[in-house]
Amino acid sequence: MGKQKAQSGRSARGMRRVDLSSIELASSETARNINRDIVLEMIRSHQPVSRAELARLSGLQRSTISLIIEQLIEENWVREGAIARRPRGRRPTLLGLNEDLVVIAADVHPAQSSVAVVDLNGRLLSRSLVPLGADPAAAADLLSDCILRLREKFAGKSLEGVGISLPGRVDPANERLIFAPNLHWPDFDIKKAIEGRTGLPVALENAANACLVAELWFGRMEGVRNAVLITISEGVGTGIFANGHLVTGQHGMAGEFGHAVLDPQGPVCGCGMKGCWETFASCRAALHYYADLSHSSRTLTFQQLLSLAEGGDKHAIEALRLQAEAIGRGMRLILVGLSPEVIIIAGDVTTAWHRFGPIIEEHISRLTLAGPQPRLMPTHEGEVARLRGAAALVLQRRSIHDTGSGQLRGEPARRPRKRKKAQARQPTRKPVMELA
Ligand SMILES: [Zn+2]
Repeated sequence: MGKQKAQSGRSARGMRRVDLSSIELASSETARNINRDIVLEMIRSHQPVSRAELARLSGLQRSTISLIIEQLIEENWVREGAIARRPRGRRPTLLGLNEDLVVIAADVHPAQSSVAVVDLNGRLLSRSLVPLGADPAAAADLLSDCILRLREKFAGKSLEGVGISLPGRVDPANERLIFAPNLHWPDFDIKKAIEGRTGLPVALENAANACLVAELWFGRMEGVRNAVLITISEGVGTGIFANGHLVTGQHGMAGEFGHAVLDPQGPVCGCGMKGCWETFASCRAALHYYADLSHSSRTLTFQQLLSLAEGGDKHAIEALRLQAEAIGRGMRLILVGLSPEVIIIAGDVTTAWHRFGPIIEEHISRLTLAGPQPRLMPTHEGEVARLRGAAALVLQRRSIHDTGSGQLRGEPARRPRKRKKAQARQPTRKPVMELA
């Protein structure tokens, strides 16, 4: 077995690419899966593409490529399509992702859940809203009903599983929701309930971690080894990618910066403490600011608050400014604790980025202790990020399961990254071992 040492290069932005040197210690099975991931990613970014082109792009032998493609076709990830037109010689069959392979993604919030059908390219094929109450068993039933309806509606597609992003922490050991102060659900095995009703495999994860996985799977994280994704909605959650690994901590509880106390005299938080970051920085906090400023008892949604601000309502504008300042103040926790290269913000605030971006950026610039300040990025399309995240859980899990680790933790560093302009450049990662 020949060995090809992994390379660490520098991207155009001067950041270090994924360091795969430790992979030399990995089992050949892991290496085979990494190579398969790389090939899958190349198909995604170059489709339609021939086997010969994949061999050239990856540096793997033709025979290895053929074996990997055989496996990907058998597993339904990849399809053979058109025959390439060539002036002379052999006319290769072109490969592309199987667009008929879909997953159902659910993004759960305290009062409702979005449920979508998402394909392998991250496209949303349908989207529905399911109102949810305080009873998790009833919620599992309502979600199952919706999933079954969607399965019927998309009967022509191959349904891979269900990914659910939750406003709380999921214990990786048993995939049970163990901490969700804004959801107020008693302990309940939602995974088992939905799997039982639908017969489909279900993957659960914290919303911020799910969004982070989506950034790794579909997104813009090429070369990034240290990133923090912050979801701002009813609460504030973070997903941590440190030194190339998703960090979950004991029982999956890592990343609860939203419950770090900024002011012990502050408002009471869902966790029982006072003055947690999220009591100042969440969308719920913004609604409180607005109620105080406008002396109004009108019940608004955050979307309505955003609309009021766009319409020039000065109290709404001020409420959002206070929220943005509070988000910015909390950046200190992230910066001193984790020193990320990239900070990604997800949630409805990203749809009003002109209000939030500059203020958060200013705080980051002021609060960075030393070295270059992290890049600040909003996720695309607000809420869609969380649905893509839920979908990525299923896509990710399937691939990672095959490596024998049994779960996605710790593995995303080895996920293929989508390249913006991959055509003209070398692949991000070199295949680690020749398997011929
Ligand atoms: Zn709290």
